Amino acid sequence: MTQDGTRPVEIDTSKPHPARIYDYLLGGKDNYEVDRQAGDQLAAVAPEVWISVRANRGFLQRAVRHVIDSGVRQILDVGTGLPTSPNVHEIAQEAEADVRVAYVDNDPIVKAHADALLNRAGTTSIVLADLRDPKSVVEHPEVRRIIDFDQPVALFLVAILHFIRDAEEPERIVATLRDALPAGSFLVLSHATDDFAERSAAQAIYNNATASMNLRPRARVERFFEGFELVEPGLVQVPFWRPESTPPEGSAQIGFYGAVGVKK
Ligand code: SAH
Repeated sequence: MTQDGTRPVEIDTSKPHPARIYDYLLGGKDNYEVDRQAGDQLAAVAPEVWISVRANRGFLQRAVRHVIDSGVRQILDVGTGLPTSPNVHEIAQEAEADVRVAYVDNDPIVKAHADALLNRAGTTSIVLADLRDPKSVVEHPEVRRIIDFDQPVALFLVAILHFIRDAEEPERIVATLRDALPAGSFLVLSHATDDFAERSAAQAIYNNATASMNLRPRARVERFFEGFELVEPGLVQVPFWRPESTPPEGSAQIGFYGAVGVKK
């Protein structure tokens, strides 16, 4: 036990973790040999993975600014990942200082790293919870302390739903979260796909990881937006969602869809 009564984080370095593979691909330092091996294997079968993770991160950043510009002051970011500068709360609070951010992840390593950098003013917090139990997310006391579910919320599900298997009913999970949000709330979502290239070899690399990779076609990703109206340009590959500069060469191969919707 640590001083605050919680268990010390047990770091499993025997299996690759999605958060740490992603951190490695982004050039971060919070990863282990198993994660780097998995990342290198991914890059060997899908070389555009390097630009893909950066394009996903760029989408996330533009989407944060979009929801803040649209007047939302609360962000619920589920599957937040290891801290990557600039983080969601940094972008949001730079735009509007009073934005409140609740981060959620099911990886204790993510929570440990995020705890270390969060502001002490209490407007940003990280909670350990599992998206597969969506009620545990929206009913979590710390999430409730940060987020007022009577005011519009921007729900971020960025590069997380492809870790949920069909048998775990991802559409039901998203619908449960949607039903907790008032009209005028936003859904920001990105999702891996094999619509643009054959990806079975890349998918197989996650068989040995702590979460599987479930690539989905366009029609399946669109279904997550039931009850939301997509803002322009709709569902597109992430580099083409409101780009601020010319998307990098190879963007047409990027296997991530992204979109932003407003709850009706
Ligand atoms: N949203 C960030 C990070 C994506 S990496 C970005 O797009 O840049 C995916 C994250 O989802 C990882 O941190 C992983 O730990 C988390 N994750 C995977 N399955 C989860 C689940 N069932 N519940 C909560 N978090 C999960």
